[in-house]
Amino acid sequence: MSLTQIGPVYSGRASAVRAGEVVLSLVASGLVGMRGWTGVRRLQHPYDRSLQLGLDRLAALCVRAGRDAPVGVQDLVGVWCAERSMNLWPLEFDPDAQVDGERLLIGGEPSEFCLEWAVSAQDVVSEVHENALVKEIKKMAAQLGRPELYARWRLFVTEHAVLVPDAFVAAKNAVLEVPQWATWIEESYGRVTAEMTVGGRAAVCGGCGQWISPRADGRVRCRVWRCARRPDLPEPNWVEARGAWRLEPELVRFVALPGGPELDLARQLAARGARVVLYPKLDALDLVAVWPDGYSVGVDVKDWRSPYLLARRIKMFPAWGADDPHAYGRGCLVVPYDRVRANPNYMKILARRSEALRAQPQVEVISDRDLVASCPDLGVMGEVVCGP
Ligand SMILES: [Zn+2]
Repeated sequence: MSLTQIGPVYSGRASAVRAGEVVLSLVASGLVGMRGWTGVRRLQHPYDRSLQLGLDRLAALCVRAGRDAPVGVQDLVGVWCAERSMNLWPLEFDPDAQVDGERLLIGGEPSEFCLEWAVSAQDVVSEVHENALVKEIKKMAAQLGRPELYARWRLFVTEHAVLVPDAFVAAKNAVLEVPQWATWIEESYGRVTAEMTVGGRAAVCGGCGQWISPRADGRVRCRVWRCARRPDLPEPNWVEARGAWRLEPELVRFVALPGGPELDLARQLAARGARVVLYPKLDALDLVAVWPDGYSVGVDVKDWRSPYLLARRIKMFPAWGADDPHAYGRGCLVVPYDRVRANPNYMKILARRSEALRAQPQVEVISDRDLVASCPDLGVMGEVVCGP
């Protein structure tokens, strides 16, 4: 009597692809784990655990494929990650993952490709990285019946990477009727330290607006990939460091940097007359915009280099009744235009790989440039607000 197989049956190829992705995710998170916001730390014991796990799995796959395996973590990081593009590793990948020519380290820093695979490995359900402070603010804002305070806090930290002493005090006192607000601001910022200053001043990137730590050689150049790639990146702005405060690194990475493209889009729509509500219902969407003619869109902005990885992170858009203050007509998943321009297959891969998009065919995937262009400009200035 033969046994009946129960559950999904994976072909050899699917499981090989899965194994390749696990190795890539482990190594990528290991590399990112060794790097703080302030730069790459020296390769030293103990290595990040996921790097060691990735090495072990990679070695096993190499043996199975009859290929030479990396001889240790040094070899994996210094040669494989720094010099070999992923398509030269003895792993199988889905063509939509677009690994050709992608290296994990560029100039000693995790590449954008590497950063995205590391994030996808974290298995994060929620969109914003939910650190303790973000959770606390959401909870308190809900309890106070003031969800707009959460949006206001996000807007503030996204726009203020470094605060001089007076500005810090003013920020804490901005919402006097809510005593928790001062605590939120206090916990969002830490002191500017000597390591992040040059000649008594701290640098703020002229591109992304976030603070920059000088490199070991004293150069000040933003490490954010979109800035690092820009030939016309504006010079940094310098802030007197004495007594100043800087946004906590975790909030830079998970709140302020993703917030940049969202705010840009909000302002461009407002410039054409739209009324834009930021982060409605404690972040259920990035924004809801009502155009001058009354037409409305609910928007989720997704800034990913890899459409293959982005496809896994698209959520269902919320369905709000017509009497809801944030009701919107059309759901839009917005991708920054430079992503689409750099990758001609971007939209195709996204559509092909995303179950969430198939499940909600009414949601439109559109570039930020096209969404802004579709908002009729009647010559009246709109506004960006934090509540209904
Ligand atoms: Zn920057």
